[in-house]
Amino acid sequence: MSSVLAYHKVDNRFELGLTTVSPKSFSRHLTAIQNAGFKIECGRPDSERVVCLTFDDGYDCFYRNVVPSLDSRGVKAIVFVISGFMGSTNSWDVRFSYKPFRHMTAKQVEEVAKLGFTVGSHTRSHKDLTRLDAASLSSELRDSKKQLEDVTGAEVDALSFPYGRYNQRAAEAAFEAGYKRLFGLGSVSREGVIARTPVYSIDSVPAVLRKLESNSFEIFKSDIIHSFANVSALLSSGKRVSRLGGSASDNGGELEKTRR
Ligand SMILES: [Zn+2]
Repeated sequence: MSSVLAYHKVDNRFELGLTTVSPKSFSRHLTAIQNAGFKIECGRPDSERVVCLTFDDGYDCFYRNVVPSLDSRGVKAIVFVISGFMGSTNSWDVRFSYKPFRHMTAKQVEEVAKLGFTVGSHTRSHKDLTRLDAASLSSELRDSKKQLEDVTGAEVDALSFPYGRYNQRAAEAAFEAGYKRLFGLGSVSREGVIARTPVYSIDSVPAVLRKLESNSFEIFKSDIIHSFANVSALLSSGKRVSRLGGSASDNGGELEKTRR
């Protein structure tokens, strides 16, 4: 099976979080991945030694730092855009919003699509889909698909779930809305959703390579960090978090499912 890596921001700006990788580190990751004999592409999910690179949230730094870096190597990636936040800052992110990051404008999204990058949906407003009623869930999925298709002029068939959170209901609604490829976060794959391994600022080049070689400790580490992202999702939804694992909603207990 090929691997799917999940990045967020590739930027030099410091922030109190783990989701920003510097452009220099990112470039080192790419060199190491290619030198290790992995092909970077997203079209062949069943091939060995193929890595699909994905980028959540559609930040402006994707346009500034990722696109030139990948373009110079002749490789492409998938960027998941929050359709209702194009051209705005990340006010949906309650965690470290004292330092806002800008999202790509519609024009920039159109441009990256024209360059051959795949634009996927990261919903309309980055809500935890497991907590929405049927009408809101449908709107998050369908409105974002339509809006991004209008911007790119291409079919949008890939979706990544905000905070990596989904349940059977959200996955079924996504397939019904016309998505064909659904992406989670973390090593667990269920409901037809493709697992992705997050890359964090603390990951060294060897750690990234170990993730690709499915080193269980590296994936375990990613899952632990990702479980904190789940807590952020709960906080942003205004719910009280009584304990780390116990307050997960009806998503089948993603927090508990680390490694077998
Ligand atoms: Zn996100």
